[in-house]
Amino acid sequence: MLNCIGVLTSGGDSPGMNATTRAVVRTALFEGAEVWGIHNGYRGILDGEMFKMERKDVGDIIQRGGTFLGTARCHRFMTPEGRAEAYEKLKAKGIEGLVIIGGDGSLRGASLLSEEHGIPIVGLPGTIDNDVWGTDYTIGSDTAANTIIDAINKLRDTASAHRRVVVLEVMGRHCGWLALMSGISGGAEYILVPEEDFDLEEISNEIKEAYKKGKRYILVVVAEGAGSGIEVGNFIAEHTDIETRVSVLGHIQRGGTPSVIDRVKASQLGEKAALAILSGLSNVVFGFHRGNVVAIDLHDAVTNKKKLDPEYMRLAKVLA
Ligand code: ADP
Repeated sequence: MLNCIGVLTSGGDSPGMNATTRAVVRTALFEGAEVWGIHNGYRGILDGEMFKMERKDVGDIIQRGGTFLGTARCHRFMTPEGRAEAYEKLKAKGIEGLVIIGGDGSLRGASLLSEEHGIPIVGLPGTIDNDVWGTDYTIGSDTAANTIIDAINKLRDTASAHRRVVVLEVMGRHCGWLALMSGISGGAEYILVPEEDFDLEEISNEIKEAYKKGKRYILVVVAEGAGSGIEVGNFIAEHTDIETRVSVLGHIQRGGTPSVIDRVKASQLGEKAALAILSGLSNVVFGFHRGNVVAIDLHDAVTNKKKLDPEYMRLAKVLA
C-alpha cells in the first residue's frame, strides 16, 4: 500500500487530460492518500516543480482542453542519468509512486523509470492519435475526431458549391485512426493512412471518372503520416484538371473542450489508476477494450505497435 503518489501529464497534450488529473487527485484524496501534482511532465520532476494537491486545486478544470499541469518534452529524462536524478527527486518529496498521463513516448519513459528504479508506475493513455497498443481508446481521441468532423462538415458545404476536390490533412504521424474515423463519419471518398499503401494515379483516374458521371465533389482525408496534404492535392489537381483545395487542420485538433465521452472515460481511467497505484499495483496501463476498463501490461503497451482495425478500413471502402 502506498500513501503518497504523484501525477503528471507528458508529451503531446490532449483534451481530457484535465479530467483525468482531476479524477486521479480526487480519488487519491478520497482514499486518504497524499497526492502531488507535477508540472511540465518529466522536466518538472527534475526541476522540482511538484506541489501537494488539494481537492480545490482540480476544481473548474473538467471542461478545459489542454492540461493545467502543463506538459513538456524532456531530453534529460531520455538518459539513465536523468531518470536516476528524477527518482532521487521523487524520493526526496516522499512520492512513492507515479501516475503518468501521456502518449506512447511518455509511457516508454515511465516503463524505464520503473524498470531501473523499482518505483511503482501506472500509465494512462493520453493522446489524440489513439495509437497506444492494448486499448481501443485514448484520452482526447474522441474530441479530436469531433473537431475534424466539424471541419469536414464545413468543407463539404463549400466543396459542393464549387464542384471541387477537397483534401484535408489531419494529425496521425504513425497511426491513421483519426483519419479513418473522421473519414468514415464525414463520408470521405478516400482515406489515406500510413498503415496502407495507396496509388495517387489510380485515385486521380477514379476521381476523373466520377466527375464525368456527375459527381459534385470529392473529399480526401489524409493522415499526416501518409503524406503531405499539399502534395496529395497538387498531384490530384495536375492529374485530373479539377479544381482542388487543400486544408491542413494542424493544432486546432489538439484543443477544445473535451467531449462527453472523453470526460467520462478520463474520469473512469483516472479513478482506476489512483486506486491501482495506491494498492501497490505497478507497470500497468489502464485503457478500454470493448467498452470495459482493462489493465494492460506497461511493457507490452510500449513494445507492441497498435494496428488499425481492418473492419473499419473495409467499411470505409464499402461506403465511399
Ligand atoms: P508522447 O508521450 O505524446 O508520445 P513524446 O514521445 O514526445 O510524447 O514523449 C514525451 C516525453 O517522454 C519525452 O520528452 C521524454 O521525456 C519521455 N520519453 C519519450 N520516449 C522515451 C524513451 N524512449 N525513453 C525515456 N523517456 C522517453
